[in-house]
Amino acid sequence: MCHLLQDKTDKINLLGLDRSAMQTFLAELGEKPFRTNQLIQWIHQARISDFSQMTNLSHALREKLTAIACIRLPDIAWEKIATDGTHKWLLRLPDGNSIEMVFIPEARRGTLCISSQVGCALDCRFCSTGKQGFSRNLTMAEIIGQLQLASQRLSEYQPKENAISPQASTARPPETRKAITNVVFMGMGEPLLNFDNVVPAMSLMMDDLAYGLSKYRVTLSTSGLIPAMLRLKAESPAALAVSLHAPNDDLRNVLVPLNKKYPLDALMSVCSDYFSGHAKRVVTFEYVMLKGINDSPKHAKELLTLLRTVPCKVNLIPFNPFPLTEYVCSPMEDIKIFQQIVQTGGIHTTIRKTRGDDIDAACGQLVGNFKDRTKRNARWLENPAKI
Ligand code: SF4
Repeated sequence: MCHLLQDKTDKINLLGLDRSAMQTFLAELGEKPFRTNQLIQWIHQARISDFSQMTNLSHALREKLTAIACIRLPDIAWEKIATDGTHKWLLRLPDGNSIEMVFIPEARRGTLCISSQVGCALDCRFCSTGKQGFSRNLTMAEIIGQLQLASQRLSEYQPKENAISPQASTARPPETRKAITNVVFMGMGEPLLNFDNVVPAMSLMMDDLAYGLSKYRVTLSTSGLIPAMLRLKAESPAALAVSLHAPNDDLRNVLVPLNKKYPLDALMSVCSDYFSGHAKRVVTFEYVMLKGINDSPKHAKELLTLLRTVPCKVNLIPFNPFPLTEYVCSPMEDIKIFQQIVQTGGIHTTIRKTRGDDIDAACGQLVGNFKDRTKRNARWLENPAKI
């Protein structure tokens, strides 16, 4: 059995098994295929971690599972709740690294923003996570564990738990208690660099007997890893977002260095076809607004030209500053002018509402706490202008 599935007690963490892996695991124990659905429902739908409570499993199977398996979630190091109801958690992993996760409640939905890696190897220039360096991929159990843990915390949430968050006190809005309706892979990491753990985790998220989220509501956000995007298109029906941030190669080579390997013409060709045959589905392009860098009317017109053949929408993200960054956010009036140009050109364009900024939970601000194997963080702290 793969060591990544095992927890520190050497038991197999069943959160790391998707439907087919669960079926194989049970078959190896001599169990019939119908047990797969039962166990998936207990673990993911009912969130029961004590096998003795799984009452429709045979006594013998419950005992076997207790002996060899476990359901182990990441530990919560701390939880903060912003005045707008946004939750942010620092999660401690078994190897001592920690990652961040954010829940954003809105009137009609609750979005969980989860991480796919400990840090990120890609180093987009405007991104706080990238500046922290990279440690490792998350296991599938650690990815699904984020969704399970957040679901559990939000359902347990009671007003008396204000003590967790001194900032929250009396101003908590009612939407704080909303359930998770959407999951976005926009936390730490490039999810397509952890394909083999992210895609099975997404399939469980969309499995009716597990979390039952719609394919329209599980979104993978990539900076444009073309070979993995083609594989994703074939293997997963999840929604796709692309971190674009620039309308031409010269600028994108600076902001998103991966662009040097997979330039815009190739990226647009993949995006144009990504949802072909699905008239209602479009790619979302994320575009961070950086003052004086990518936010002029000229850039907006260039963006329109770039996206003319792609069924898409555009999401403008006001830049969230972090220590030592060289960038500042575009003024809101410039963001609105940019929006109007792209929208008038026929592409639905929204401006992302900044959430959780009093607890550094906004987009691009997730950092965690981990051993950086790349040494990038040390170089960045020494000379921020150079990298
Ligand atoms: S924007 Fe995404 S891909 Fe780029 S460095 Fe940050 S986490 Fe990594």
